[in-house]
Amino acid sequence: MKRIAVIEKEKCNPVGCGGYLCIRVSPGNRMGNEVFIVGPDGKAQVNEDVCTDAESITVKKCPFNAIHMVKLPDRLASQPVHRFGRDGFVLYRLPTPIFGSVAGILGVNGIGKSTAVKVLSRVLEPNFGKEKGGSFSELLQYFKGSESQIFFERLGNGQIKVSYKPQSVDLIPKEVSGKVKELLKNSDERKRLSEVADKLEITKILDQDIKELSGGELQRVAIAAASLKQANVYFFDEPSSFLDISQRINVSRFIRSLANENTAVVVIEHDMVVLDYMADLIHVMYGEPGAYGIVSQAKPARNAINAYLSGYLKEENMKFRNHEIKFSVRPPERLLKREPIVSWKAIEKKLGDFKLTADSGHIPKKHVIGILGPNGIGKTTFVKLIAGVEKTDKGEISCNVSVSYKPQYLSFSSEQLVESYLKVDEMLSRQLSLEPLMKKKISGLSGGELQRVAIADCLSKDADLYLLDEPSAYLDVEQRLIISKVIRERMEQSGKTALVVEHDIVFIDYLSDSLIVFEGEPARKGSVSSTFSMEEGMNRFLTNLDITLRRDPDSFRPRINKPGSRLDREQTASGKRYYQ
Ligand code: ADP
Ligand code: SF4
Repeated sequence: MKRIAVIEKEKCNPVGCGGYLCIRVSPGNRMGNEVFIVGPDGKAQVNEDVCTDAESITVKKCPFNAIHMVKLPDRLASQPVHRFGRDGFVLYRLPTPIFGSVAGILGVNGIGKSTAVKVLSRVLEPNFGKEKGGSFSELLQYFKGSESQIFFERLGNGQIKVSYKPQSVDLIPKEVSGKVKELLKNSDERKRLSEVADKLEITKILDQDIKELSGGELQRVAIAAASLKQANVYFFDEPSSFLDISQRINVSRFIRSLANENTAVVVIEHDMVVLDYMADLIHVMYGEPGAYGIVSQAKPARNAINAYLSGYLKEENMKFRNHEIKFSVRPPERLLKREPIVSWKAIEKKLGDFKLTADSGHIPKKHVIGILGPNGIGKTTFVKLIAGVEKTDKGEISCNVSVSYKPQYLSFSSEQLVESYLKVDEMLSRQLSLEPLMKKKISGLSGGELQRVAIADCLSKDADLYLLDEPSAYLDVEQRLIISKVIRERMEQSGKTALVVEHDIVFIDYLSDSLIVFEGEPARKGSVSSTFSMEEGMNRFLTNLDITLRRDPDSFRPRINKPGSRLDREQTASGKRYYQ
């Protein structure tokens, strides 16, 4: 076994812990060994060569969970691909782009997905865990005889050109200005602008300014820009965020169409339904976030996702989670009999060219309602009416309730520390692992960290109704499940209600007691359904999309049926598009 010891420098806060607590409490240091010392950057540094099991107490004492100590079997730990400094995060093995295929990468945040992609795209020169940097020829040596050899030979010879769609598309307007068309023209090495714009349904917005775009539009523009480059490996980091379900399906088809005998595609994606639909093969990444990450061999998409959910990789005999993630087959029986918190009747509201209508409906107390519907269909407008921020043109809403709102796009650029901004109870802080974020600046948070802070902020406000718009964006699969549990428990305990706008079907399924479905024509007209049971709501929504979902027989997760397949036809005919 090899021991690795890591200090997450971003989390280490020597002042916050009362002055290098680790150095003061380490059994090794007390015996006169320099296990923990002050590093050149003022943060703690750990020397793993002199660590012993006794240091597990030091790991526990660090209030910011910045210290990791793990033992790994030699077969895994002998050859790292990259290590950030002598006590930094370690990456073992790499995913393999395969020409003609879409390879997915599935793993929790902080497990090294982006690091792996940076190595593959030669943005980061791997050092193989050595203090003095490695070289590219070493990389070739490392992969000799493996499936990746051809890829790295070509990469080394300059025969591989890489194009990359970054994760945080909401940052694009801060970095580039001008019209969409100009941005795309600059990327259009393949001379396919109008065809790609058409496929991604952005033709209508080509003359708009980048600053005016919604998140879903930005996402599609970013995907277009990456795919217009002349490349033979395309990387897409979370292509589904901010897209509604039909856009997710459309983008998946588009991304699949890029793969051919000279082109490989690699995607990082946390929406399991979408990943399953998009990828041929998937590499699971496991390990300990912030400490180390191991890339598994590629497996067919279905098997890889099931293995990921089960927490066990059979081929590698590796159990990487103590519990399985399971889905229930039956929709939850928590229905709508509860006392209403708001009700409405025959509402109409016009905003420019857009008109929203809602027949009668109500929202029950102690309830989580999933809101389904395409982008631009009036979901936010409806909530503003409920909150009394906007007034209806016609019809009435029973009472105006106080609303706490988490918007879809999070644009905090504050230099403030999280702790001076966020006031949350201990329970929420623990559930959402917020403690290690408290001493960070808001502007320095990653997408997923900012999302957790924003969700916590929304839930900790005193209100009758909580509205969360796409809380899943930038969260990994496990964080999505934690968030849904936290939202459910809070509503149940406080007797309040949450409305959650979401496009990840797995998440909606886990989270909601009932559903409201928005229908119509984006940007022109939208209508609000009454509150449906899960089964009714999902049927109605999937009928609008003309898709059916089956359950995977092993993990019970939903999978999209191939249009026209036997199951698709049967489920369409029986009207059971999801819940059986
Ligand atoms: P993922 O993409 O799976 O979320 P990343 O590859 O971004 O994971 O990060 C994995 C770990 O490596 C994190 O703990 C991160 O803080 C660390 N890391 C990433 N870049 C650097 C760097 N330049 N220096 C030190 N640590 C880094
Ligand atoms: Fe303090 Fe933890 Fe950093 Fe050590 S690792 S200095 S205990 S914050």
